[in-house]
Amino acid sequence: MDTYSAKILGTDIAIYCFNTVIVGSGAAGLNAADQLYMHGQRDIALVTEGLHMGTSFNTGSDKQTYYKLTTAGAMADSPWDMAKDLYAGGSMDGDLALVEAALSARCFYRLVELGVPFPHNRYGEYVGYKTDHDPRQRATSAGPLTSRYMTERLLAQVQSKSIHIFDGYQIIGILTDSAHTRAIGLLALNLKGIENPKTRYVAFNCTNTIYATGGPAGIYAASVYPESQTGATGLALEAGVKGKNLTEWQYGIASLKFRWNLSGTYQQVLPRYISIDSAGNEHEFLNDYFQSPGQMLDAIFLKGYQWPFDPRKTANQGSSLIDLLIYQETALRGRRVFLDYARNPSLTSKHGQLDFALLSPESVEYLKQSGALYGTPIERLVSMNQPAVELYRNHGIDLAKEYIEVAVSAQHNNGGLAGNLWWESNLAHFFPVGEANGTHGIYRPGGSALNSGQVGSLRAAQFIAIRYRDEPLSVDSFVSQAQTQIQEKTDLGQQFIANITGKANVDEIRQNLGRRMTTAGAHIRSLTAVKAAATAAWRELESLPQTTRLGTVRDLPIAFANRDLLICQYMYLSAMADYIKRGGGSRGSYVIHDPEGLLPHPDLPDIFRFRPDHAHLSECIQEVSFAQGRCHFHWRKTRPLPDEEQWFETVWKAYRDSEMIQ
Ligand SMILES: Cc1cc2nc3c(=O)[nH]c(=O)nc-3n(C[C@H](O)[C@H](O)[C@H](O)COP(=O)(O)OP(=O)(O)OC[C@H]3O[C@@H](n4cnc5c(N)ncnc54)[C@H](O)[C@@H]3O)c2cc1C
Repeated sequence: MDTYSAKILGTDIAIYCFNTVIVGSGAAGLNAADQLYMHGQRDIALVTEGLHMGTSFNTGSDKQTYYKLTTAGAMADSPWDMAKDLYAGGSMDGDLALVEAALSARCFYRLVELGVPFPHNRYGEYVGYKTDHDPRQRATSAGPLTSRYMTERLLAQVQSKSIHIFDGYQIIGILTDSAHTRAIGLLALNLKGIENPKTRYVAFNCTNTIYATGGPAGIYAASVYPESQTGATGLALEAGVKGKNLTEWQYGIASLKFRWNLSGTYQQVLPRYISIDSAGNEHEFLNDYFQSPGQMLDAIFLKGYQWPFDPRKTANQGSSLIDLLIYQETALRGRRVFLDYARNPSLTSKHGQLDFALLSPESVEYLKQSGALYGTPIERLVSMNQPAVELYRNHGIDLAKEYIEVAVSAQHNNGGLAGNLWWESNLAHFFPVGEANGTHGIYRPGGSALNSGQVGSLRAAQFIAIRYRDEPLSVDSFVSQAQTQIQEKTDLGQQFIANITGKANVDEIRQNLGRRMTTAGAHIRSLTAVKAAATAAWRELESLPQTTRLGTVRDLPIAFANRDLLICQYMYLSAMADYIKRGGGSRGSYVIHDPEGLLPHPDLPDIFRFRPDHAHLSECIQEVSFAQGRCHFHWRKTRPLPDEEQWFETVWKAYRDSEMIQ
C-alpha cells in the first residue's frame, strides 16, 4: 500500500493506492478479498462502512438456504441441468447461469472447509431439500443464520491473511478516467474522522474495484433487509455502470419492529390476521375475501412455503391474495396490519378452539405429524419451532402477548448492476459482485442469491489476478483525471454542511423516499404511479442540496446516502415505467395495474385489476444506463445456455495457455 496526501482545490485528501479495492464486507466482498489473496494478488484492501453492517451479517430466515449442485443421493444432476433451471427463471443470461451452476460445488465446499456448519450424513453426503423454483433437492442450510456463519468464517480468513481493512469508510463516489470508460478509484467519507475537514475525505487510487455493496435496500420503507443495509447502487449507475432487470425484486410478509420474514412455521401455525383503523377498531380483514373459513386457513398455511408474493397465486383464493389484502388495508385504507399469535382466527374457532376439520387434509396431516393439532397459534409455534419464539423474545417481543405489526416488504433484488462472464461491468475494471450484481431474472430458486455472491466474487478475483495485475495510476495522473469529480462531491458536501441548523431532516427525507417506493414501486405497480414517483424522485434529487438540513456534520453520511438512493430510486422507477410501456405484465413478485385487466377477486376495487403476463419479455433483458440526467433503455435477447463441444485435450491446452480467462 502506498499512501499520499494531496490538496485538491483546497480540500485535504489522503490517497491510498492499491491494485484492487473491494467495497463491502458481506459474504461476497469478503470472499472476493480472500480469493484475490489466494490467487496471488496481495496489493488489495477491503473498504466498508461497517464490518458488521449489511445483509449477510445481519439477516436470516426460518431456514436460510444455500443453493448448489446436488451432492447426495441417487438423483442425477449436472452443471448443465442446474444451469437450465436457473435460466428457466426467465430474463437470465444462459452463460451466467452455467457459470453459477458450474462453480456452485467449488464455492460450497470452500465454505464447508472454512467451517460453515452445513449438515452432512455419516457417509459425507450433503443432503439437500427442495426450495422454491427447484425441481431437485439442491438446497441446503446451516440454519437460520447461514449467511452470518459464512460472513464470520470468511472474515476470519481475511483477517488471518492481514488484508488491509478500512472499517468505517463510506464510498460516496466512483472515479473514472477522463473518457468515463474505466474506473480508476473511489472517494470515501472517513466516518471516524468526519468532524475534521482535514481527515473527512479519503480517495482510493486503484486499478480495479470489486463492488460488493449489496442490494439497494434503502429505497424502500417496508423492507426486511436489516436496517444497517442501505446499498450504494446509485453511485455506480451515476458513474455510467449499466443496470439490468431493475424491475425484478422479491417481496413478502415481514415483521416491522424486528425485521424478519414471517415464512415457514410462522404461517403454518395459523395466526390471526387483523388490521387496526385510526379509531382503534380491529378488523379480521381476511374474512370478507375467502369463500369459506377453511379456504382462508389453507391460504395462511400455504403462505409458509409460498412466502414471496407471486401474481400467479392471487386468483382462486391463493396464498398471495393475502399480500394484496394487506396492501388494501395499509396503502388504501390507512390501517396498520398485525399478526396475533395469542388467539385463533375467530371465524374458524368455537370457544377459542380452532376447528381443524375446516383445513385441507394436507394441512391437517402436517400439523398432526408436527404434534401441533391443538391450542392457539403460539402454543402450536412453541411445539413446532421453539427457536422461532425465542428469536422474537431475544428482540424484546413476546409473541404470546404482543401483536406483531407486518407489511409486504422488499427482500431481494434479482436485478442490479450488469456484468459480463467475469462479472466486469461496461465500466472497465469495475466488477459488481453479490447482490449488487443483477445476474438473476424474474424467478430464481431460493438460495441462489448466496451462491451467486460466492461465484461472482470468485470469478472477479480469477480475472483480476490473471489479466489486471497493473499497478494503479501514478498519483499525478490519478489526481489530474479525478480532481473535477472529487471537487463536485466535496462541493456538495460543503453545501450540505452550510445547512447545519441543529434540526436535521435527513431521516425524514429517507422515510419519505422509502414510502414513495413502497407505495408505487413494490408489489403493486401502475404506469401512472411509477411515472409520478420517478418524477418526484428526480425533483427531490435536484433540490436535495438546498432542502437538506443537518443537525451536525455527523449527519453528512446520511445526506450523501440519500443522494445515492434518489438516483437509484429514479432509475428503478424509470425502468418499471419503461417495462409497463412495453406491455410488460404481472410477473415475478409484482402486479401491473391495467383497467382492462383481470380482477383476482370480485370484491376487490378496480385498482387491483391487473395485466396478465404473456411472457413475451421473459426471453429479453432490459438494460438501462444514465447519461446527461436521462435514462437510456436497451432491450436485448437473453444470451442462451452455451452449447460448446467439450473435449478434454482442447480445454487443457487452452487452459495451459491461459486462454480461458478473457
Ligand atoms: C430476510 C432475508 C432473507 C434472505 N434469505 C436468503 C436465503 O435463504 N438464501 C439466499 O440465497 N439469499 C437470501 N437472502 C439474500 C442474501 O442474504 C443477500 O443477497 C446476500 O447476503 C447479500 O450479500 P452481499 O455480500 O452481496 O451484500 P451484503 O451482505 O448486504 O453486504 C454489503 C456490504 O457493503 C457495505 N456497503 C454498502 N454501501 C457501502 C458504501 N457506500 N460504502 C462502504 N460500504 C458499503 C455494507 O455495509 C455491507 O458491508 C435473504 C435476504 C434477506 C433480507
